[in-house]
Amino acid sequence: MPAADTVSRFDVAVVGAGPAGLAAAALLAEEGFATALIAPPSRPDDVRTTALLGGSVPFLKSLGVWTAIEAAGAALATMRLVDATDRLIRAPEANFHAREIGLPAFGVNVVNRELTRILDEKVASLPNLVRIEEVVTNAAPLADRVELTLASGRIVAAPLAVAADGKASRLREAAGIDVTTWAHPQSALVLNLSHERPHHDVSTEFHTKTGPYVLVPLPGDRSSVVLIETPEEAERLRALPDADLSRELERRARSLLGRMTVEPGRQVWPLSSLVAKSYGAKRIALVGETAHTFPPIGAQGLNLTLRDVASLGEILAAARRDHADLGAPAVLAKYERARRLDVETRTRGVDVANRALLSDLLPVQAARAVGFFLADRLPPLRRLVMREGLTPSLLAPRRMRGLDLPRG
Ligand SMILES: Cc1cc2nc3c(=O)[nH]c(=O)nc-3n(C[C@H](O)[C@H](O)[C@H](O)COP(=O)(O)OP(=O)(O)OC[C@H]3O[C@@H](n4cnc5c(N)ncnc54)[C@H](O)[C@@H]3O)c2cc1C
Repeated sequence: MPAADTVSRFDVAVVGAGPAGLAAAALLAEEGFATALIAPPSRPDDVRTTALLGGSVPFLKSLGVWTAIEAAGAALATMRLVDATDRLIRAPEANFHAREIGLPAFGVNVVNRELTRILDEKVASLPNLVRIEEVVTNAAPLADRVELTLASGRIVAAPLAVAADGKASRLREAAGIDVTTWAHPQSALVLNLSHERPHHDVSTEFHTKTGPYVLVPLPGDRSSVVLIETPEEAERLRALPDADLSRELERRARSLLGRMTVEPGRQVWPLSSLVAKSYGAKRIALVGETAHTFPPIGAQGLNLTLRDVASLGEILAAARRDHADLGAPAVLAKYERARRLDVETRTRGVDVANRALLSDLLPVQAARAVGFFLADRLPPLRRLVMREGLTPSLLAPRRMRGLDLPRG
């Protein structure tokens, strides 16, 4: 057992400083918990962007970071879905406008680097949060605390650790939580580009036989690209000279935004899915990609993560009011109940949407086309699809209620 004076004690220790860990640490410190945030510095090379939608907006407002995010991002007022599969049965084009559900915009698309910078600044401003830029090398759940050993040998102890350490989570392993994983025959090419014509705050999703090709607005005449392809084709595209790749992306976008010019920085992300069999055990609660990972279809990943964070914050605040042990099995079981349905519904939903796109079976194509058609033509269904696509109404944590969304 380490000497008591070599151990730093906190109410909660958050491990991982991706968007999940940063948001969790900021929220828990704001709630008044003495919080440690343990992770190496954030990745400066992430070219991805995140579409923050629905309940994420009031949540980020409640943390006091929304104004900065809104200023750094671009509003998403319309989602356009185009069936570019060239199959026998194709779906009609569908356009979903935020104004149909009384909102100026569905949310904002922001470059991950900016999002991380804003959350980093928030974290640095919180007096009861200590940031420790180190890797956790061992996590030991004990009877009344978790002890985290850091690379320097320092030990951090807390009654609860929040695992936000990503897909290959060391903390999840220490909690003995198994995962179900499955691979997809696809990779995502991610980059940003400028274009000749304005996007008018419209995000366009071309559905192709290998996956969606999505253009999401960025400030000015710029958009972020997520192009899901076979791994070989994604790598071939990544290796193209700038001018050739720009032309190819313009061709695939049917010149909708005119001439395109790719910006420096391209990444290829192999796609996989993961769902944890439990969201908490042995004084460790999972949030973000530690608990669930799926392909970037429908911009769900981080929005789902922020619901984990908001929900955990609410449950821990209630536990403290009841003078309960923050890492007690009953507290973790409550978190599990709060998150299970939402996580499973989103993970399966994205998986089904992806498989329906890849399938050559005529009945599957027909079902997809009918689904698009109905969602496009039936106003009540359209509104339901839009609202529930943003945040599931029955499951929204308190900080996510009241869709007071950004300027259009
Ligand atoms: C191509 C692509 C596009 C996407 N687009 C969207 C979108 O538009 N909208 C959306 O909502 N989501 C989107 N997502 C999903 C979203 O990007 C992810 O959910 C999110 O980035 C994951 O955040 P995270 O904090 O859970 O994990 P990560 O970002 O993986 O963070 C893990 C953190 O843990 C740290 N860490 C790991 N091990 C240790 C250790 N032992 N000790 C200490 N620290 C450790 C790492 O350094 C890192 O800081 C997209 C994903 C992809 C792949």
